[in-house]
Amino acid sequence: MSNYSFFESVEKSFNKAAQFTKWDKGLLEQIKACNSIYSMKFPVRMDDGRIEVIEAYRVQHSQHKSPCKGGIRFSMGVNQDEVMALASLMTYKCAIVNVPFGGAKGGIKIDPKKYSAYELEKITRRYTSELTKKNFIGPGIDVPAPDYGTGEREMSWIVDTYSSLRPGEIDAAGCVTGKPVSQGGVHGRKEATGLGVYFGVREVCSMKNLMDKLGLSLGISGKKVVVQGLGNVGYHSAKFFRENGAILVSIAEYEGAIYKADGINEEELFQHRKATGSILNFPGATNLAKSSDALELECDILIPAALENVINGDNAPNVKAKIIAEAANGPLTPEADEIFTKKGVLVVPDMYLNAGGVTVSYFEWLKNLSHVRYGRMEKRFTENVHSKIVSQMETLTGKTISESDRQSIAHGADEVDLVHSGLEETMIDATREIVEIWDSNPAIPDMRTAAYVSAINKVARTYNELGIFP
Ligand code: GLU
Repeated sequence: MSNYSFFESVEKSFNKAAQFTKWDKGLLEQIKACNSIYSMKFPVRMDDGRIEVIEAYRVQHSQHKSPCKGGIRFSMGVNQDEVMALASLMTYKCAIVNVPFGGAKGGIKIDPKKYSAYELEKITRRYTSELTKKNFIGPGIDVPAPDYGTGEREMSWIVDTYSSLRPGEIDAAGCVTGKPVSQGGVHGRKEATGLGVYFGVREVCSMKNLMDKLGLSLGISGKKVVVQGLGNVGYHSAKFFRENGAILVSIAEYEGAIYKADGINEEELFQHRKATGSILNFPGATNLAKSSDALELECDILIPAALENVINGDNAPNVKAKIIAEAANGPLTPEADEIFTKKGVLVVPDMYLNAGGVTVSYFEWLKNLSHVRYGRMEKRFTENVHSKIVSQMETLTGKTISESDRQSIAHGADEVDLVHSGLEETMIDATREIVEIWDSNPAIPDMRTAAYVSAINKVARTYNELGIFP
């Protein structure tokens, strides 16, 4: 287990990186601190008539940019320390990927599996009205999103509650992201975190000096991958790795883990789980004795995509992966981090690797503020121009191309094309920026520290530019 609380772990990583920056000590203290903490309790009447008192939080870590941004999780593990840590990670995450938001996070201490949909709706709506009353939500104030245990359904309850309490607010749809497309969401948000994890790791795996150090070949194709978690992030990470040639040798969930040397198809496993209630006994796969055994399997890339602190001082020495891709927030304790640095394992850190979600949330928020779907103005125009170019080339060469080639060349970008390409660009840029910082100073021990240096520099620069420290 870790000797630190989750928030202390984040502080520890921050302090480790701060020594590689030149900022004033007081400014660093300000960056680290959580600015506003709203801890609340409210009653909700359950289906059987009982009244239950619900414990919930929203933490705004930083307002150096507005609005603040970060998901809301439903989990029994929620407490103030956890929400503070997650809110801090959001600040650093947004800074690294150049998304102009401060960091925030929310949490409701419930096990969503134990409540009916109607009860969950009442809890979510009441939580939203508490946030609205205290000015802790709004398109220019603080914009929640999905996180562990929440998804599109909860986000549509939030936008509906907020909008009804703020009649006439024209930008109300921008009060939350991760909404269904029919409620102002953007195409591509659902798979965004998983796709971002894939883009980030693909970029790392294209860097020859890093791969040489790990004794790995370039590229994703053929790499053995273990994924912990088959939720939205784990499922989509698994999907993009498999579709691009990786072999998913093991997938773990809380009920257990399975192993299949020639690769698991995550969609078939998802359907199997839906039908049987468990990932275990998947045709052609072996059940592992414990879910956590998956973390210690022989593989090239381990993707923890569930919760924090799953790899700690106890199990880190047994981990055999060469790359750990932190799709979850905070899956490694500081003790595990030290062990991996010593062992020469490459840890691709959470606060940039899983930034795909918030990056596409940013695109969704921009869509809401602009009140127009991406591609609406230019799609047809582009297609017409491209079609004319193809026709001209056919006339000039006397040759014709197939209808499918014509369509793929002429295709004007849909919303999802633009969102995916914006995300790809963001993740490639961030990876290169972090690796450049890492390369520039041999004393920086690992990629996480380099990522923190990048984040600290960006946040500190904003504070300085704001001129609030005359
Ligand atoms: N909950 C996600 C995260 O931890 C997404 C946050 C957002 O889109 O605001 O990054």
